[in-house]
Amino acid sequence: MKFRLPIPFHKKCLQGILIILEMLAVLFLESPSAQSQTVSANHPFAIAVHGGAGSLKKLNLTPAQEQAYKDTLTLALQAGYAILKNGGTSVDAVVAAIRVLEDCTLFNAGRGSVLTHEGTIEMDAAIMNGHSLKAGAIAGVKTIKNPITAARLVMDSSKFVFLSGSGAEAFCRDRGIVIADTSYFYTSFRRAQLQRALTGDTVLVDHSDTTGMVEPADGNTAEYKFGTVGCVAVDRYGNLAAGTSTGGIVNKNNGRIGDSPLIGCGTYANNKTCAVSCTGRGEDFIRNVVAYDISALMQYRIINLHDAANYVIKTKLTAGGGRGGCIAMDKNGHIEMPFNTEGMFRGSINTSGVLHVAIF
Ligand code: ASP
Repeated sequence: MKFRLPIPFHKKCLQGILIILEMLAVLFLESPSAQSQTVSANHPFAIAVHGGAGSLKKLNLTPAQEQAYKDTLTLALQAGYAILKNGGTSVDAVVAAIRVLEDCTLFNAGRGSVLTHEGTIEMDAAIMNGHSLKAGAIAGVKTIKNPITAARLVMDSSKFVFLSGSGAEAFCRDRGIVIADTSYFYTSFRRAQLQRALTGDTVLVDHSDTTGMVEPADGNTAEYKFGTVGCVAVDRYGNLAAGTSTGGIVNKNNGRIGDSPLIGCGTYANNKTCAVSCTGRGEDFIRNVVAYDISALMQYRIINLHDAANYVIKTKLTAGGGRGGCIAMDKNGHIEMPFNTEGMFRGSINTSGVLHVAIF
């Protein structure tokens, strides 16, 4: 006698199998190791970083100071590149490179963050994965040692994209992120810088141009530079990522949030187009949606990275009075670093493994 399953059981069984197959497909496509099977693990990999743009000539850096900036940019590039070389993801590389810059007081991010009008620290950061289009951002955090790691935590371990203030701090603390005492951040240089801004009643971008800004009466232009840090990378699996971290601008209103943590403004990544991290007067980058604009030009107008990035920074942003620059990379590891200021701290290791670091 033949045993026949009842029809409804057949259907349920089939549905169950389909659901399991779907789950396996999702897992397969999402995991980096699976990506290595679906996309060649020998994709050309590359990395680029920036440490801010601005009227850098006015800084009159001594050769030793210039070397210190270049050495730190090199260390950041090497930290990220080692991860890419060993088969790590672009997201891991971006976090590693930015952490080096956040730990260095030369740059306006993490430990070297500038001070708000009330003399406090309020840091912003964002990261985006060009493969999944997942993103994480935090704003206005005061005690997190490495804000880029916090942004990544939001991306990886929450249902949200953007957390701010005390909620962001609590989210990170609960998940064991490293918290630093306020004394870790407050350098004497930043205190003196705020004092000058308060005296002149100005809002200063860390390495800013004098355009739209009032130069301090004492002629000390050390703060006329944007010091935000950022990184873009493509890994062996062909996946792009971008990240940006900043203390914002000197003497900013408490609660002011710049472009850096805003996805599409200061930070954006999409495997179909490019990865972008910006630096400059945040308000201009927000109004011009700069990072997404570069990506959109590539996607909708089918123009290459060079034309898209240079048009948005050197023509569109400049025409509207915006000051700053960006680093951008396409999925083939092609790198563009346009800026409309006197200089931009920047560096890259290209797909041939060649390291390049420059300021002007
Ligand atoms: N874009 C940053 C901000 O406006 C400043 C910078 O690039 O240094 O917060």
